Amino acid sequence: MHWADKIAKEIIASGKFKPYWVDDMKTPSGFAHIGSMLGPVIHSCICRALKNAGSDGVFTFVINDFDHADNMSLEFKDEYGKYLGMSLKMIPSPDPKYKSMADYFAADFVDSIRSLGVEARIISSWELYHQGKFDEVIKLALDNSEKIQDIYKKVSGSAKKEKGWLPFQVICEKCKKLGTTRIFAWNGKEVSYKCEPNMVTWAQGCGHEGKISPFGGNGKLPWKVDWAAHWKVIGVTIEGAGKDHASAGGSYDIAMTICKDIFGYERPYRLPYEFILIGGKKMSSSKGLGIKAHDLVKILPASIARFLFVSADIKSQSNFDPAGTMAIPDLFDEYDKAWEAYDKGRDEKLARTYELSQINKPPEKEKGFFVPRFRDIANYLSQGFSLDEIVGKLNEIKGGKIDDSEMAIIEERVKYAKVWLQNHAPDEYRFEITDKIPEEAKKLTEEQKKYLKEIIKVFNEEDTPESLQISLYELSKQLGIPAKEAFAAIYLSFIGKTHGPRAGMLLSKFGKKKTVERIMEVTK
Ligand SMILES: [Zn+2]
Repeated sequence: MHWADKIAKEIIASGKFKPYWVDDMKTPSGFAHIGSMLGPVIHSCICRALKNAGSDGVFTFVINDFDHADNMSLEFKDEYGKYLGMSLKMIPSPDPKYKSMADYFAADFVDSIRSLGVEARIISSWELYHQGKFDEVIKLALDNSEKIQDIYKKVSGSAKKEKGWLPFQVICEKCKKLGTTRIFAWNGKEVSYKCEPNMVTWAQGCGHEGKISPFGGNGKLPWKVDWAAHWKVIGVTIEGAGKDHASAGGSYDIAMTICKDIFGYERPYRLPYEFILIGGKKMSSSKGLGIKAHDLVKILPASIARFLFVSADIKSQSNFDPAGTMAIPDLFDEYDKAWEAYDKGRDEKLARTYELSQINKPPEKEKGFFVPRFRDIANYLSQGFSLDEIVGKLNEIKGGKIDDSEMAIIEERVKYAKVWLQNHAPDEYRFEITDKIPEEAKKLTEEQKKYLKEIIKVFNEEDTPESLQISLYELSKQLGIPAKEAFAAIYLSFIGKTHGPRAGMLLSKFGKKKTVERIMEVTK
């Protein structure tokens, strides 16, 4: 059974967590990394699985736009350093189309998850605070500050905070910073605060002292308390967390305990999940490294991008390393296998993985289904085939004429194969027949030159790439030259590498006349 169905089944069987309200959240502090789409896709799958099991659920996604900036995305660090400590919602947007930095990054992330079929309703945390919806939980948190400290200590084993600590920060009325203020008194109506010059290393407070109501958006709860508060305010009953938060004694457990013991609201269903590492690293969205979430649909069709997350085992860490590897063609193959399982009605789990990967409704099942393989298409492209030639090849493989729906898939895969060849394919796929003689041709040995000259004799105008390939191989045997060296002679002369695509294909593309000219020149 697919993990989404297992989880949905467990939730329903528990008799709890009703009405089902699935939620996830993210702080819009930079361009999100592709790994950060795992959470939204997991929640989307659970929501769909609940629906398929006959139990509708609500699905929301909170943008934590009230959070302050504490580690600005690299792209903006220099210009925006002065805003560190301010709420992301109060920092100007780098693009005038948006009102704030928060809106700018949130729009980018929401677009990215929408493209993967994540159907959540988007909620702004800033708006909830400003509508007064957090007033009740803010009062509860401030009234129970000692108890909250005890929870931190009991659950995580952390040391007690300084005496008089209060779980709240306000926006300084003078310098507008949020991350630099410390509350030192609470009288049931107002909090007294100081904007501390040296409380954090990454921002400096102005020293202002004041007294202000904590309600209506004047300030916000600290992260772990804030998380629990969202559950109660929104009515969340199911929310997962990545393993950085979900380790024993981590922020997830602290938030769960605060939710129950301070806010008197039932803990949501606990769903910890592992990460997908990208190229072996977990990348933080504020570091500006690696592939961005918005780039994923530029390198993969949406359903295959979604499949990357749906097919992951959320209980163990997986890795996706597209750079210079076959990871992308492999992913297409896995997707096709799941598609076939779905179409032929076999391997329930695999078929379900395909179904949950669809952006819209899965297509009708059809008999005699044929999926043109991505790696074949990439191969043909790398050898310089035109679209017509590729279709011709695939006609042969299919053993029948390519129909319209297959043609649409071919066109889509051609588009993505071009991107792969240009950006991610291993070196042996990347070559161009150079107009000039490659420098590397100087490395040819006398034996290799002898082989090249003989090619002129065996190369006939009517040769197909396949028959030429055989002739080239036979020729190396006749001359007693190891095939590897013989073929290297061709690659060095034509593309400046020691290996490459099928040599028969390469020379056919080049044509006899140009091949002869090139060989004459490099063997001079
Ligand atoms: Zn200040």
